[in-house]
Amino acid sequence: MPKKILITDDALFMRVTLKNLLVNSGYEVVGEATNGKEAVEQFVSCHPDVVFMDITMPIMDGISATRAIKQCDPNAKVIMCTAMGQKNMVVEAIQAGAKDFIVKPFSPERVLESIAKVIG
Ligand SMILES: [Mg+2]
Repeated sequence: MPKKILITDDALFMRVTLKNLLVNSGYEVVGEATNGKEAVEQFVSCHPDVVFMDITMPIMDGISATRAIKQCDPNAKVIMCTAMGQKNMVVEAIQAGAKDFIVKPFSPERVLESIAKVIG
């Protein structure tokens, strides 16, 4: 059974890039959310093994969404996708329950390494 991934980013380009990489690497992308609220809803309905979470998004940001997801499932595995210059957000994201970080623009190797790390 391929591992199930939920992608969350308000930028279509990022979602497409990540989805292509994940699908080509044998993962199943079970959802694509464009903001934190959609991410929480899709987490509940799709039960993904791993969630990729952008930080800056409209309606609900990635840190609030990570908190909400961790309340639904304390074992949820969330990887934050941060932009350059968002280092100050990293501490907050760890406190919210994020397991790992990738910094945009990220390399395919780093993305796959991060999934392997959080799945354990
Ligand atoms: Mg964004």
